[in-house]
Amino acid sequence: MSFTTSITTHERLLLSILTELGLSAARPNLVLVANKLSAIARKEPPWSYNYLSNILRGEPASKRLAWAMESLLASMDGVPASGAGKVEFTVLADPAHFQNGVVVLLPVKPCWRPVCPVRFVGWPAQKYCCLDCKKLDYKERTHEQRHPHQAR
Ligand SMILES: [Zn+2]
Repeated sequence: MSFTTSITTHERLLLSILTELGLSAARPNLVLVANKLSAIARKEPPWSYNYLSNILRGEPASKRLAWAMESLLASMDGVPASGAGKVEFTVLADPAHFQNGVVVLLPVKPCWRPVCPVRFVGWPAQKYCCLDCKKLDYKERTHEQRHPHQAR
C-alpha cells in the first residue's frame, strides 16, 4: 500500500486503515480498529466506537489518535511482528478467504489420502484436502483390507 502525504484528513486516514484491513465501516470493524489503535497508543480505556464513527463523519481526531492511525498505516507497509521470519510464497486460495500479505501461522500438512499429492493449510482437525479424498481414501483402504496382496 502507499501511504503518502496526499492523505491529509483524519477521515481519510481511518478509511485507508479500513481499506488496508479489508473491512467495512460496520460497528464491529470500527471497534476492532479502535482496539488496535488503542493498543498502539497504549490508551486505556480504548477509544470508543462513537469516537471513530465521528471521525468518519469528518470530526478531527486527537493528536494521539492521529499518531496511532499513522503508525498503524505505516506498519502495514513494513513487516509486522507476526510476519517476522516469514517469506512470500505462491499459494492457491479462495479469494473470499484470503488476501495478499496475509500471514499464515498454521503449518502445511499433507492430505491423508496416500496417493493425493496435495499439501494444504486447513482446520487443525482436518485430515483430507477435500471431501472426495476422504471418501476415496475410505474406499481404497477398505479395498486394501479385502485384497491385501493387490497393489493399488
Ligand atoms: Zn487429497
